[in-house]
Amino acid sequence: MRLRNIAGSREVIAESDFTLKDPEKMKGLFKKEVFGNDNPIRLEIGMGKGRFLMDLAQLNPDINYVGIEKYSSVLLRAIQKQQQLLLPNVIFIRMDAEYITDVFAPSEVDRIYLNFSDPWPKDRHAKRRLPSRQFLERYDRILVPEGVVEFKTDNRDLFMFALDEIEPAGWHLDAVTYDLHNDEAMNAGNVMTEYEERFSAAGNPIYKYIISRKGSN
Ligand code: SAM
Repeated sequence: MRLRNIAGSREVIAESDFTLKDPEKMKGLFKKEVFGNDNPIRLEIGMGKGRFLMDLAQLNPDINYVGIEKYSSVLLRAIQKQQQLLLPNVIFIRMDAEYITDVFAPSEVDRIYLNFSDPWPKDRHAKRRLPSRQFLERYDRILVPEGVVEFKTDNRDLFMFALDEIEPAGWHLDAVTYDLHNDEAMNAGNVMTEYEERFSAAGNPIYKYIISRKGSN
């Protein structure tokens, strides 16, 4: 990715008040210590430059948002935006989501957003895909019982893979669309991500599901 190697981005992140250092120390303490309130906590995993997360945070001041991003150079863009917006209900963590259960306690999170996740097209990399059963097992450990995962992508192969992972992982498909922007019900209140805007402008349909662990109907 073009932005990955911006000189000094790691140093900016290390000094920024908007990123959480040693996030494992806040495990189980996010509401009390990080946000200082009892509002629900929602994550975007792989938030990129964070536009979606910060748009949501402005729309929902009574919800706490944590943006998780692996790469410093993209996270830097989110920090720069937050330096202007100063949203009290947003914090970022630079980490690989593989270790998410080291950072969040059981039932600490209310909802997880996966937007335009990296496809990892090779079969041997399937477990790195964020909607894979291995990741669903991690989400299961940090979400409240009624918690949901919302996934959007324009990548049909990744979406088909993600749909196939739901049942073996013990999750339940609550809602699905193969053309989000032409689905009146599911598109109501939709907040676009950077990638979503780019790919839908190129004419790609956007796929979306919402899943939970409710059990089958
Ligand atoms: N969600 C944004 C959007 O829709 O505009 C960005 C999408 S971009 C294609 C995917 C992002 O996920 C990249 O910034 C990548 O670094 C991040 N990412 C991929 N795997 C990750 C992981 N295991 N942990 C944290 N971030 C990850």
